[in-house]
Amino acid sequence: MRQSYDGLPERFYAPPELTPVADARLVHLNRPLAAELGLDADWLAGPEGLAMLSASHMPPGVRPLALAYAGHQFGHFVSRLGDGRALLLGDVRDSHGHEREIQIKGSGRTAFSRRGDGRAALGPVLREYLLSESMAALGVPTTRALAALRTGETVMREKPLPGGMIVRAAASHIRVGTFQYFAARQDVAGLRLLADFAMARHAPDAARAEHPYLAFLESVVAAQAALVARWMLIGFIHGVMNTDNMAVSGETIDYGPCAFMDQYDPATVFSFIDEHGRYAYTNQPSIALWNLTRLAEALLPLLSEDEDRAVEHSQQALAGFHTRFHDAYFAGMRAKLGLEGEAEQDETLFHTLLQTMQATQSDFTNTFRALSHDAVLEGATPADWPQPVAEAFAPWLAQWRQRLAQGGQAAPHDRAARMRSVNPCYIPRNHLVEAMIAAAIEHDDDAPFREMLAVLANPYEHQPGRDRYAAPPTPDERVRYTYCGT
Ligand code: AMP
Ligand code: MG
Repeated sequence: MRQSYDGLPERFYAPPELTPVADARLVHLNRPLAAELGLDADWLAGPEGLAMLSASHMPPGVRPLALAYAGHQFGHFVSRLGDGRALLLGDVRDSHGHEREIQIKGSGRTAFSRRGDGRAALGPVLREYLLSESMAALGVPTTRALAALRTGETVMREKPLPGGMIVRAAASHIRVGTFQYFAARQDVAGLRLLADFAMARHAPDAARAEHPYLAFLESVVAAQAALVARWMLIGFIHGVMNTDNMAVSGETIDYGPCAFMDQYDPATVFSFIDEHGRYAYTNQPSIALWNLTRLAEALLPLLSEDEDRAVEHSQQALAGFHTRFHDAYFAGMRAKLGLEGEAEQDETLFHTLLQTMQATQSDFTNTFRALSHDAVLEGATPADWPQPVAEAFAPWLAQWRQRLAQGGQAAPHDRAARMRSVNPCYIPRNHLVEAMIAAAIEHDDDAPFREMLAVLANPYEHQPGRDRYAAPPTPDERVRYTYCGT
């Protein structure tokens, strides 16, 4: 495995001292992903592979590093965060010819650990594994889960918990906060090296543009606008959109107290630590722009030698966010509703649908799925809607059908099939995620994890006999809060 960061100066990272864990065991190895990454799954599952995946002992040629970064956490700047419980093993070229980095989270203390133990609890590990693989199956850019491990050790949180590690693959682990780290130190040389490194990896065309760093910033803005639009379209709430948890690659990264919304409510917040709802569902686009503005500020010294010019450039790049986000979001909504072409009333149609969903406390995922059936496109009301819900939706259904008639002449059957390919049947429901974690940590039972993973691998396809995975929680099953659990 290569270590591309080796080519960067030492102030970018810290080499760790490994602390072997008691008894590393695989909970799960993602064999198809291993193959895609060109890694030998049998070797990974063997003693030497496990020693590497658990950051206990590295094979010759693997030089893990903890990366430096800073970040705004809930709006407050921290000039030194870094990989306090993660190690970058190195990078590989995958079977599509793309560079991918492999990182272990929960790997032990590093120079960036501050007061933390450098470890992770098994619960959040399984949550990240399941949620990130579910996002990948849904078609959303994301880091991928390669392996989940039990460490055989106990970590102390509010109570003693079984320890775990997740090994993940990412286009890179460069964050907005990585740029902020060098900007905060007025280390323009470091900033330039980092920007060149990130540009080569994520926006190679930008290097040939008239203003390469401006083109790079524009590409990050575009990638984030597209990403957050995807989140909004499936009801995903990241939960901790700190600038250190935003990758410049445009992949969803650092799954903490993230969750999918059940009942539609734009103000939904799950994270227990997000007291003021800074990272609520509806705030995600504006927070993404806030974070990108921090990136633009960090990049100012590279954008132009002339300060005013640099500010102008950064504003030009940031101004693209709004249009890009709305174009992606509205295109996605049209696809979810089976609409062809664009019509003036579309925005109103989307807005009224969401309002009606909120007023009837309807399930976000299941409402779109219910609309994606042949019979509904032929004029029926979804069979499982209770009478008051059907009544509340009647005026909207009429508007929607009028709008459908304006578009092309697609047969209801084809239109319904297309809608089902973008409106998932299965998302990782919070109450099932919590039950899966409880089974794993209280009863050493990993069967629910495996079964959920299998269901979520095909989210758009109805799977007979698995209705419980599509059902919203009952009032007593409803999960109010999710925790970082770090
Ligand atoms: P996160 O909450 O994962 O975004 O992490 C924020 C910062 O806290 C990062 O610098 C992490 O490396 C650090 N951190 C989180 N948990 C631990 C831990 N158990 N030990 C050491 N550092 C940690
Ligand atoms: Mg993080």
